[in-house]
Amino acid sequence: MPHYDRPVKPRIVILGAGFGGLELATTLSEELGDEVDVLVIDKGDAFVFGYSKLDYLFGRTTPDAVKLAYRHVAKPGVRLLRETVAAIDPVAKAVTTDAGVHEADHLVVALGADYDFDATPGLADATEFYSVRGAERLAELLPEFRGGRAVVGVCGAPFKCPPAPSETALLLHDYLEHKGIRADCEISVVMPFPTPIPPSPSTSAALLQTFAERDIEFVPGRPVASLDVARSVAVLADGTDVPYDLFFGVPKHRAPDVVIESGMAVDGYIPVDGRTLATRFPDVYAVGDVATVGTPKAGVFSERQARVVARTLIARVRGGESPDGYDGRGSCYIEFGSGLVARIDVDFFSGESPTGTFQAPSAEFVAEKARFGSTRRARWFGIEA
Ligand SMILES: Cc1cc2nc3c(=O)[nH]c(=O)nc-3n(C[C@H](O)[C@H](O)[C@H](O)COP(=O)(O)OP(=O)(O)OC[C@H]3O[C@@H](n4cnc5c(N)ncnc54)[C@H](O)[C@@H]3O)c2cc1C
Repeated sequence: MPHYDRPVKPRIVILGAGFGGLELATTLSEELGDEVDVLVIDKGDAFVFGYSKLDYLFGRTTPDAVKLAYRHVAKPGVRLLRETVAAIDPVAKAVTTDAGVHEADHLVVALGADYDFDATPGLADATEFYSVRGAERLAELLPEFRGGRAVVGVCGAPFKCPPAPSETALLLHDYLEHKGIRADCEISVVMPFPTPIPPSPSTSAALLQTFAERDIEFVPGRPVASLDVARSVAVLADGTDVPYDLFFGVPKHRAPDVVIESGMAVDGYIPVDGRTLATRFPDVYAVGDVATVGTPKAGVFSERQARVVARTLIARVRGGESPDGYDGRGSCYIEFGSGLVARIDVDFFSGESPTGTFQAPSAEFVAEKARFGSTRRARWFGIEA
C-alpha cells in the first residue's frame, strides 16, 4: 500500500523578534498562514520600542507599560520560542539554542546590535540610556539631579537611531525647565559626527538652531573614548576632558557574539546585498541592525528590509516574480521638545549620496508617531489602542 506523507511545509527560521523579525513573521503569516512553518526565536520575553526608553527615562510612562509581551503574538503558521541562540551554521542553515537544534529551509538573521561596554573603558561603571536596564537606572537617578553638568555622550558610530542623543538633550532641557532648575544646569551633546544628522543638512541645521536657543552645547567630531568615573570625567578621543555630574551614555555597538562566532560577519556586521538582503550563504538573509545594508541602524529600516525578504520568501513558496529590491528609504520621528515631533524622510539609495528631507516639528507628527506605535502593536501583537 502506498504511503502518502503530508506535504512538507517550507521551514522559515527567523532569529530575533525585534522590528525586523516581528514584521517578517507578521507579513509571512498574513500572506501564507499555515502554508509555511515559521519559527521565531528570541531570548527575551517582550519587545520594547527604542523610543519608549526616552519616554520612561523622562517619566512619561513606566517600563512595564511599554513592554510588549511575546505571549501576545498569535499568528497562523508562526511559533515564537523563548530560547537563546548559541550557534548559527549558515551553510547547513541550522541553529543551536539553549534548548536544541532547529533546521531551516530559509534562515533570516535579525538579531540586532549589542552594546560593547568593554570598548569604552569606564563605561560599565557609568550610566547609559540605550539598554532597558540603563534607561531604568537613569530614570531613577534623574530626579536626584538638582544642578550641574549633564553630558549626552556617544562612544562610537554606527549607533542606533542617530537622532536619539539630540532628542535626549532636548527632552532633558524640558524636564529641567519643568523642575525649575534649568538655569542651574548645563547640557552638552558629544558626537562622533560633524553635525547631528550628517545625511540631512536641513535637519542638522534645525537641531543646531534649537540647541543654540536652549543653550545646549554641541561638541562635534569626537566620540567619548573613556570615562574616569572616580573624577566624573568623560575623556574624548582627542584627549579633551568633559566633566559631568550626570552622564547619558550611548555605548559602542557590535553584532551579537553568536553572529561573530558564526563566521557570517565581516568588519563587525553581516554583509548583505543591499537590494535583496541576501547574505553570501544560499537561502540565508540578514535584516536590520545586525547587517551592513548601507542604511542607518533604526527600526524603520529593519522593518522595511524585512518586508522585502518576506516578499522574496512568499515568491519562493508560491512561485512568481521576485519583488522590487529594497529602496533604502525610511521616515524617522524626532522629539524636538516643547511637546513637538519633527520628521525626517531619508533616501539612502536613489541618489549619489543619501538625502534627508526635514519636516518641521508639529502636533501632527506627534499624532503620526503615536499611530506608528499603535499600528505595530496591533499588527504584531494584536493589542488594540
Ligand atoms: C533610545 C533609542 C531610541 C530609538 N528610537 C527609534 C525611533 O524613534 N525609530 C526607529 O526606527 N528606531 C529607533 N531606535 C532604534 C531601534 O530600536 C533599533 O534600530 C531596532 O530595534 C532594530 O531592529 P532589529 O530588528 O534589527 O533588531 P532588534 O529590534 O534589536 O531585535 C533583535 C532581537 O534579537 C534578540 N537577540 C539578540 N541576540 C539573541 C540571541 N543570542 N538569542 C536569541 N535572541 C537574541 C534580542 O532579544 C532582540 O529582541 C531607537 C533605539 C534606541 C536605543
